[in-house]
Amino acid sequence: MISLVRRITAACALSAALTAVAACGTTQASGARHPSPAAGHPAPARSAAKPSAGAEPSAAAPSAPPTLAPGPGGLTPVFANGPRTKGKIVALTFDADMTADEGPRAAAGEHFDNPALIATLRALKVPATVFMTGRWAVQYPDEARSIGNDPLFELANHSYSHYSFTGDCYGLPTVAPDRMRSDVENADAAFRKAGVRHVMPYFRFPGGCYDDKALRTLGGLGVTAVQWDVVSGDAFATDADAVTRQVLNGVRPGSVVIMHCTRSAAPTTERVVQAVVPKLRREGYRFVKVSDMIRATTSRS
Ligand SMILES: [Zn+2]
Repeated sequence: MISLVRRITAACALSAALTAVAACGTTQASGARHPSPAAGHPAPARSAAKPSAGAEPSAAAPSAPPTLAPGPGGLTPVFANGPRTKGKIVALTFDADMTADEGPRAAAGEHFDNPALIATLRALKVPATVFMTGRWAVQYPDEARSIGNDPLFELANHSYSHYSFTGDCYGLPTVAPDRMRSDVENADAAFRKAGVRHVMPYFRFPGGCYDDKALRTLGGLGVTAVQWDVVSGDAFATDADAVTRQVLNGVRPGSVVIMHCTRSAAPTTERVVQAVVPKLRREGYRFVKVSDMIRATTSRS
């Protein structure tokens, strides 16, 4: 439970700061479900589901990204981590957070982007998945396009507004149920407007907060919700060594690590990547993107 509390504290700190709402301090998020090593996989039945038809490679066209099959009644499937027994692979994921009402803060000089982090991932040749809000892409269209069109990375959806999809998520403002789908679709539209050619069919709930109602509401969009099993603790961290230790202690084969691509709220992340990548490579780990991790999960071999 200690790791769960730390996870929630970290996510809480980031969410609170990003929304300028200091409503954190509770470890309860009623209605929300959070993956944790203690709780195990949040949706084992759905994760064990067959890959969608799109996962089959086609000779005529590039194969569609692998997704998980919808759950009962068309529920959006949830993915948290890959296989534990198919080799030492790990997926680093970076949330490019910016909330819909943070434009004035950006105009005042706050940096919600992190070009040095992206440059380091490129220099170290680390494949990674970036979950971007639509608002971030509006603020940083050149960076969004550069990330989205770089084959080293894949760009996925983190909502347009970074508002919560449940009623209680660390003080984040809440999206009305009838706006949830459009909040996802508006992010994709912002990416395309920025010039991103490929957006992966993966969605990360703001704050990681979701419930069956949200999963049902997003059903039919064809997205797989992507959570994580390792929280880096980079949100508001000032001690890069502590974050580095937390990542190294948490990673197991198949892990999905959550970090952030947001300088103002996660200032140590680039240093953490510099430290973590060579260490994990020495331990025999290979970095993969979320699509690779889902493919490894759904493939038989
Ligand atoms: Zn976020």
